[in-house]
Amino acid sequence: MNIPFSPPFIDESVEAEVLDALRSGWITTGPKVKALEQEVCNYTGAESCLAVNSATSALMLVLHWYGITKGDEVIIPAYTYAATALAVLHVGATPIMVDVENDFNISVEKIKEAITPKTKAIIPVDIAGWSCNYNAIHSLVNDAEIKKMFLPASEQQHQLQRILILSDAAHSFGAVYNNKKLGTAADITVFSFHAVKNLTTAEGGCICLSLPKPFNNTEVYTTLRLWSLNGQTKDAFSKSKAGGWRYDIVYPGFKINLPDILAAIGLAQIRQYDAQLLEERKRVFDFYSAKFAQQDWAILPPYHQEGAVSSYHLYPLRIKNITEEQRDLIIEKIAATGVAVNVHFQPLPLLQVFKERGYDINNYPMAYNNYQSEISLPIYPQLNNIQCIYIVDNVINAVNSVISNG
Ligand SMILES: *Cc1c(COP(=O)(O)O)cnc(C)c1O
Repeated sequence: MNIPFSPPFIDESVEAEVLDALRSGWITTGPKVKALEQEVCNYTGAESCLAVNSATSALMLVLHWYGITKGDEVIIPAYTYAATALAVLHVGATPIMVDVENDFNISVEKIKEAITPKTKAIIPVDIAGWSCNYNAIHSLVNDAEIKKMFLPASEQQHQLQRILILSDAAHSFGAVYNNKKLGTAADITVFSFHAVKNLTTAEGGCICLSLPKPFNNTEVYTTLRLWSLNGQTKDAFSKSKAGGWRYDIVYPGFKINLPDILAAIGLAQIRQYDAQLLEERKRVFDFYSAKFAQQDWAILPPYHQEGAVSSYHLYPLRIKNITEEQRDLIIEKIAATGVAVNVHFQPLPLLQVFKERGYDINNYPMAYNNYQSEISLPIYPQLNNIQCIYIVDNVINAVNSVISNG
């Protein structure tokens, strides 16, 4: 049996929505993108949502908007996908990596130790779809001593008067925190619509705005939208209307807008997200957890806690007391049965670009620990029970054969 890791969910409704865009005479940013932004607002409760071409560019745009630049520091977890750190590098700032907790997410204690007068933002990442502790992060950035340390430089920093909480929610669309869908737990929340994510537009992402007063989220949306389209006062859609040709460029913006033809995929998916896509992911997740709970070597991923529920983006299984070499051997054995698995993530200090910049994995023992014992199993709506049983059996066999020889 061959089981891919994360194929996209494409049904007739997705095909119909994409065809509709193709036949409409308008394929780049226009009505489908607007509709998707509105659906995301309805779903998350965010006041405003801007769709862009990736979560990476969304993070960059927000950091740039907040006036973060050379000499500034942004705190991120060492355990995440590289994009979290690259977005910080792209605006010229320095990523300050901190260690994570046993639940894979950034340690609030470590954030506290890392804050300096140069800190301008924190980017928590909801690994695997499990929400970070946003209540504790809010308390931290609003702490009087920490606010006193904050040195505002840009107009936006003067307005907020504290460190910005920018959530990298690439994994956590649909996850619940404080009994609410994520999207409003941070000041600004960025979702990814990349092909392997829970909700996809092939490539894409969005920025949900939930900034406190005195910010006006609708106004911030208008600014970010302008900056995502070359700083041009009229988008191509408005210019295409009769008599609408004249425009100005009022800011040296970026070109990171999302096309309608891609938004159409996400639009068809979000309409069935809770009832279908999330429910089916949960089915697979629960199946795995019920089976692995019977293995004394298994560490099950977190998914539920007072007021919080995962979005079931990944199934990061950990195996007790194994080495990185044993983990790699287990993956080889699973792969030989036709089941595609992955590792989420290689901590950033293990990657060349960050090693060269002086980051050292020895400073992140928990990130390394999580990494060396972790295997991500396939999890997506299309997986049927026969496939799930096949995956579980082969994972158990592979683990048992490696640990009994260890
Ligand atoms: C996928 C991912 C991103 C980047 O998303 P893109 O839309 O591909 O730019 C950022 N952070 C994390 C944690 C991710 O998994």
